[in-house]
Amino acid sequence: MSEHADSAANHGFSSLSLRPELLQVLTALGYSQPTPIQTQAIPAILAGQDIMAGAQTGSGKTAAFSLPILHKLTEPLLRLDEKNQQESEAPSCSQVPAIRAIRALVLTPTRELALQVHGSFVKYAKLTQLKSALVYGGVSIDAQAQILAAGVDILVATPGRLLDHLRRGSMSLSELEFLVFDEADRMLDMGFKDEIDAIVKQLPKTRQTLLFSATFDESLYGLSQSLLRDPKRIEVGERNAAAVEIEQRVYAVDSDRKLALITHLIESGKLQQVLIFSRKKVAADKLAANLTKAGIGAQAFHGDLSQGAREKVLQSFKDGEVRVLVATDVAARGIDIIDLNYVVNYELPYKAEDYVHRIGRTGRAGNKGVAITLLCREDEHLLEEVEVVLDKRLPQQWLAGFEPDLTKSVDTPRKGGRNAHKQRAKKRANGGRRGR
Ligand code: AMP
Repeated sequence: MSEHADSAANHGFSSLSLRPELLQVLTALGYSQPTPIQTQAIPAILAGQDIMAGAQTGSGKTAAFSLPILHKLTEPLLRLDEKNQQESEAPSCSQVPAIRAIRALVLTPTRELALQVHGSFVKYAKLTQLKSALVYGGVSIDAQAQILAAGVDILVATPGRLLDHLRRGSMSLSELEFLVFDEADRMLDMGFKDEIDAIVKQLPKTRQTLLFSATFDESLYGLSQSLLRDPKRIEVGERNAAAVEIEQRVYAVDSDRKLALITHLIESGKLQQVLIFSRKKVAADKLAANLTKAGIGAQAFHGDLSQGAREKVLQSFKDGEVRVLVATDVAARGIDIIDLNYVVNYELPYKAEDYVHRIGRTGRAGNKGVAITLLCREDEHLLEEVEVVLDKRLPQQWLAGFEPDLTKSVDTPRKGGRNAHKQRAKKRANGGRRGR
């Protein structure tokens, strides 16, 4: 690309005063314009402000915090090198490299998201000398401790494993300058409040804190008040709203006809890459097996799979070797596939906010996406809750041949009281598998 084309391609980002080595990477990645969250967050972070941002997955929020952090971390590193050179009594050929300390920490609720965020840092920092590392549970802690001992500037971590490292003394966070909470709502939902408190106690009080969340509720405001200093509030689009590029369809269908309907939709629409959500791991396994039996290559994706198995399954899905991924909510949190066009709610989630997260897997960075919900009458109350969160109605449609049988009686889920399912969902989130 010519120099002129280079700067033209980066026009939008150039006005955000990012370093040339970052702009160069963005050009190579084909990012020509910053997304709305990037336009608002990057200058605020560069100016040293704390931020509290309401941003959905797919909005480009990872670059919104990683680019300015990389920008700010690069300068002191260069100065430190120069200082070493000047202060060194030994000749410059025996220059001792600056001792690295963790200066930026990104906390994520799940391993998948941690992997994804770390991947972004590596990608954007390609032309800098900054080193990043990743720590999450389910894999050897010793190997991670060795990497930390070698020195890193940026650490991406899940809270449980980070605390394990802090307790073992394999790292110090005393030099921390940037603390990022990514998908903070999910972190609280998963019961990480105590871990967060324990981690924050070990951090310097003077630091910049950036909090990103798709949804906001009282507990999140509580957390932000204790952690952020006079934050700049950033909202892109409607709070808790699904990305506008996502078309949302709801098919009313009997629960025992869902498999036939989804098979029909995939086959007749020739859908090639479909992410289906189920509420339970067992159901995900069963559905993946049934789809495969019906001739549609499918794999389950949930927390019972080893980390290695999850990465392998995800890669086959990304590569198009597996047509359908049947995932549970927690496992799917970090899935980032830019061209994913179809997300299916085989069952609606118990937590309405999870609907926003689920469908946010498609329509990423402005791409078009379709979110299909298969709604049985037992789950109608869950749709009502989704509509409250979205603040809009999602009209139901019937597909010829799959019309629900309204003469059938259905189990009413309100037996245990209007909010019984909410209580069950909370219990599950707290006791469930977490990003350790
Ligand atoms: P995120 O919301 O951070 O998960 O980002 C969603 C996707 O958008 C990722 O695949 C990014 O690589 C991509 N992305 C982020 N910013 C931009 C941009 N300014 N232009 C094009 N793609 C972007």
